[in-house]
Amino acid sequence: MLADEIKQLPTRAEVAPALTWDLTPIFSDLTAFNDEFKAIDDAIKGLADLQGQLEQGPKQLAAVIETMMAVIRRAEKVYVYASLKHDQDTGDADNQALSGRTQSLMTRLQSQLAWFEPELMAVDETTLKQWLTDSSELKPYAHYIESVTSQRAHVLTPAAEQLLAQASDALGASSNTFSMLNDADLEFPIVTDDDGQTVQLSQGVYDQLIQSTQPEVRKMAFKQLYSTYHQFIHTLASTLAGNVKTHNFDASVHHYDSARQAALNRNHIPVAVYDALVTSVNAHLPLLHRYVALRKKILQLPELHMYDLYTPITGEPQLSYTFETAKAEALKALAVLGPDYLSHVQTAFDSRWIDVVENKGKRSGAYSGGMYDTAPYMLLNWQDNLESLFTLVHEMGHSMHSYYTTHNQPYQYGDYSIFVAEIASTTNENLLTDYLLKTYSDKRVQAFVLNHYLDGFKGTVFRQTQFAEFEQWLHEQDAAGEPLTADALSSAYLKLNQHYYGDAVISDPEIADEWSRIPHFYYNYYVYQYATGFAAANTLASGINSGDDAKREAYLNYLKSGSSADPIDVMKRAGVDMTQTDYLDSAFAEFERRLDQFEALAAEL
Ligand SMILES: [Zn+2]
Repeated sequence: MLADEIKQLPTRAEVAPALTWDLTPIFSDLTAFNDEFKAIDDAIKGLADLQGQLEQGPKQLAAVIETMMAVIRRAEKVYVYASLKHDQDTGDADNQALSGRTQSLMTRLQSQLAWFEPELMAVDETTLKQWLTDSSELKPYAHYIESVTSQRAHVLTPAAEQLLAQASDALGASSNTFSMLNDADLEFPIVTDDDGQTVQLSQGVYDQLIQSTQPEVRKMAFKQLYSTYHQFIHTLASTLAGNVKTHNFDASVHHYDSARQAALNRNHIPVAVYDALVTSVNAHLPLLHRYVALRKKILQLPELHMYDLYTPITGEPQLSYTFETAKAEALKALAVLGPDYLSHVQTAFDSRWIDVVENKGKRSGAYSGGMYDTAPYMLLNWQDNLESLFTLVHEMGHSMHSYYTTHNQPYQYGDYSIFVAEIASTTNENLLTDYLLKTYSDKRVQAFVLNHYLDGFKGTVFRQTQFAEFEQWLHEQDAAGEPLTADALSSAYLKLNQHYYGDAVISDPEIADEWSRIPHFYYNYYVYQYATGFAAANTLASGINSGDDAKREAYLNYLKSGSSADPIDVMKRAGVDMTQTDYLDSAFAEFERRLDQFEALAAEL
């Protein structure tokens, strides 16, 4: 492509203000920001003086928490402002400086408060319990205090914790080495793209090429990508094993039964949630087998390989949305959530909470971000297609969750845990799916929307649970003293992969090494939440769509709950008991119903 044919992105200054987020409600200008920054910096220095007062009585304890939270709250505000500024144009030197300054401010804040949790846990258990019952000052903080102190049995002496903190950089080396190799040093071969052009393979290029409609293109990308990882397979087994050993070590010195229990305990999630997921997904693997077999049939391939799983099977739909039409569609799709919800979505559109279009230097992808005292802003990189509409309702789900939480909870409960976060966003995606299926009768559009849902379910519920099972196996092997060699990892992974996809897919030998390139295996029991969140959202959306007002109210109450209760209790009140398999069964029933629809439609096309 000639240089002058390449579409140029606008600079930040060239983007119409109406399509940018308005950050002036946070700080009117840089002077206001700088004044507040300096005031907080001074306030942070005073935090160490609060040390030693927690045992003095409930009034003192409440006063310390209030002072501390007031400073954290102000610091979060400058931090959010700087990071939003930075993301809108990461190439801007002033924004870089702003972001750097607030990051170091947050580090100073954390180190000035390092004493707080150990000191709170050192308060005598019975005394503290009495205070929480008697003291009106402490009541608003009861759940927060109980959350912190429930970890008591797993905290070592201050000297031991300090020693571990000093070792943490060294213990994290395996994970860093993986990132360096994976993000910086690995060099991939030259391959051919859809247009017959040669292109150097990268993670981003691979994601494109594996979706190619030309079998040779995706096969080549697959073979070449894995040949590169395979050259470093022993190194990659070693970095992953080192990381697993760190988790197991950390769990064992903190008196946990397992690394899994330690990781889940951070959000007070019982391991039963994990087990329910794995059990239910395994029981429903025949549905995945059926779906991939259908994929093989529609693509008319003599053999279905692992590299044939991402190419679209229904082609591109004729649907296209400008941001303006997408807003109208989003409002219609989310109308089932009621007039109150809808009015806040309208506010988000009218008050410039969304940074819409791409510009030079803007952070890629999409997110919802903010804090207690700011609007829940959204960053998008809008394209006129259905995928962007899905992204819009997804991020709107996060933002409305934040909006309802901050408007119904005090600051100390004005946030929510990652375990419940993706439920709000994915519920909206499910509502959009329902709306589109009801609204568009064109069979090709119907098939495309159904396929979008089925692929999402496959990639989130089935695939992430496969990862979760493998992660669990890794930690158990290491805990049992079994060496995590490349051969051991690859043969276990291949077996698991065959189990998941069944006989319809050829388990290409390369896929045995897939574990070596998944960054999420370094996150410490993170992936299962994608699967539980998607399944819960699927079930909740069905309830909302059924027109049952009680179910809709229960859902809105979840959005309003923030962190005022443990995530598992919040979801229970919304009607989903995530320690049981019922919610998973009903999500699989929906998957099956839509698979039936898709199969019938595909036969007609
Ligand atoms: Zn999300």
